[in-house]
Amino acid sequence: PSALREVFVEVPDVSWEDVGGLETTKERLRETIQWPLAYPNAFERVDLRPAKGVLLHGPPGTGKTLLAKAVANEAQSNFISIKGPELLDKYVGESEKGVREVFAKARENAPTVIFFDEIDAMAGERGEGTGDAGVGERVVSQLLTELDGLEDLENVVVVAATNRPDLIDDALVRPGRLDRHMHVSTPDKEARREIFDVHTREKPLADDVDLADLSERTEGYVGADIEAVCREASTAAVREYVRSTNEGTAADVATIDLTLDHFERALSE
Ligand code: ATP
Repeated sequence: PSALREVFVEVPDVSWEDVGGLETTKERLRETIQWPLAYPNAFERVDLRPAKGVLLHGPPGTGKTLLAKAVANEAQSNFISIKGPELLDKYVGESEKGVREVFAKARENAPTVIFFDEIDAMAGERGEGTGDAGVGERVVSQLLTELDGLEDLENVVVVAATNRPDLIDDALVRPGRLDRHMHVSTPDKEARREIFDVHTREKPLADDVDLADLSERTEGYVGADIEAVCREASTAAVREYVRSTNEGTAADVATIDLTLDHFERALSE
């Protein structure tokens, strides 16, 4: 029987345009993951071994999952997403078998990007158990075995993400393993502007909405926060419409716009 009830294989529908900011990281991911899959002969010609894995580190909600999906999409690869804590919690005693199955499934469906989210939960320093003493150790060993066993031509690559790179077992991030490390930072003003653009692309904005100004005012917000603000602004607009319907004064839905006032309310929540 399978240790993992189901390993979902998907082709993500996220593209680079859905990721605001992070230009350098996008470029590096493209070179590290997409190029070897698209131009294997060029890599072979210059005797350049493709990376087996990448470690994305940075605060929660900054777009690590989004980046992994976008690069898989651009590389026309399948995508398998596994959350570290789930692998440990759901399959107690079978976690390393789960790891084995993930890689087997990835090979079957290659080219595949395997995304391990919150990898620190399953690959913390060996010896620091998570209750079940030794389980972390076995999972790390299995991960090492799988990474070391990946052949260049198998077209399976690992993207791991963490907010706590300091907790990850050193052996996993050595050369030949997850050896490309990329920081995914909290967005600056320009990046926040781009993230606002992404999340309002399909929304009708009134003339009084100034996204540059909203970007100035959201210092410290990460992408997930900005997405939430845009969602809240939409909710405020619908709420207003429904109220006008109940009062019998509803206008055509085609006149509903997101106004500055809706964004103000979203920001104050
Ligand atoms: P965690 O560490 O919590 O897993 P993460 O870094 O993987 O977070 P994501 O899951 O990629 O973050 O982001 C959550 C949501 O926030 C995304 O689905 C997206 O809507 C939005 N978001 C985050 N970063 C960005 C970004 N740079 N551009 C556009 N949207 C973003």
